[in-house]
Amino acid sequence: MIPDVIKLTQDLVAIPSVSIDSNVAVSDYLQRLLLALDFEVERLSYDDNGQEKVSLVARKGSGSGGLGFFSHSDTVPGDQGWNPYDPVIVNGKLYGRGSCDMKGPLAATIVAAAKTDVKSLKRPIYIGVASDEENGYHGAMQICRESKLLAQNWPTHGVIAEPTEMRPVYSHKGGTSITVTAIGFAAHTSTEKGTSANFLIAPFLAEMAELVPYFKTEARFLNHEFNPPSFGFNMTLNDFGTRGNVSAGKTVCGLSIRNMPKVDNEGAIALISEKAQKYGLKVDVHMSDYFYVSPQNSMVQAACRATGLAQPETVAYGTEAVIYQKYIANQVVLGPGNIAQAHTVGEWITLDQLTGSVGTYERLIAELCGA
Ligand SMILES: [Zn+2]
Repeated sequence: MIPDVIKLTQDLVAIPSVSIDSNVAVSDYLQRLLLALDFEVERLSYDDNGQEKVSLVARKGSGSGGLGFFSHSDTVPGDQGWNPYDPVIVNGKLYGRGSCDMKGPLAATIVAAAKTDVKSLKRPIYIGVASDEENGYHGAMQICRESKLLAQNWPTHGVIAEPTEMRPVYSHKGGTSITVTAIGFAAHTSTEKGTSANFLIAPFLAEMAELVPYFKTEARFLNHEFNPPSFGFNMTLNDFGTRGNVSAGKTVCGLSIRNMPKVDNEGAIALISEKAQKYGLKVDVHMSDYFYVSPQNSMVQAACRATGLAQPETVAYGTEAVIYQKYIANQVVLGPGNIAQAHTVGEWITLDQLTGSVGTYERLIAELCGA
């Protein structure tokens, strides 16, 4: 009755669920499985340009508080050069799209919860499976907005099961994009009637180049809990392929910083915005939050005990912890597999990581749900 974690991962990988397509098929499979395992299951969905996107919330046990495991069922595209939906095992590795990010981790959380005797639970276990994680976190946002199961009782502790090689992660950077637009006037250069947006934006770009070393050395912009400790400040430029004999009508500069806890993110954004405004350029800021809990947080410390690792870590990539952190104060990112394997051609997860993570999740359930 209790599924095997390797077999379950293979079954999930074999059902394609690329973010741009509907994830109904894999969600139907998961819903049937969770119901068969005596979970209470809630199904949420929305229409994404004609594609149905389904998220699931499942609960086992009753009472208040408890522990939630959060994953997503969508994947990045399969890509060429391999069989992404034909999960094979070679030399202790399971290959397939989503094996690592994150159908394998999802399978491990389900198996750990399934192995727990419901009579031993003083507090409930939740499994959250979101759609569209690779595409704007819309499923997780719908879960937070609409789940009745969670509205009755949000678990006090949460595990985001993204691949960390089972190292507890207490913080990751966010992502801020700042779009600066210059509007010129397009005309054939033989007429001298045009105004190049590239020349209009050029003095601003020179100032951005000066910020590169500044952001890497100013103490208020550095957090040495991260490696590297800086923003990863980057710039892209687009004049929409303007040809040499035409003045550019519009030039868009994209700037990005990976915002971090305990640094002056607002100051950095203000610095960029003020310089753009000085040259009369249009500025749009879109900020995605960072995730942070104290390394001493009860969820992080429980994860350290369950994994036997003394030191929690930080990572540079983003997760849905930023969505759930408004509802769950105690979170950790902890999952099997290496993020470097995610999104690759030939994505894989080791069987050791996969099977070992089930025991770690069981220890977390035992400690936090009173099993
Ligand atoms: Zn993922």
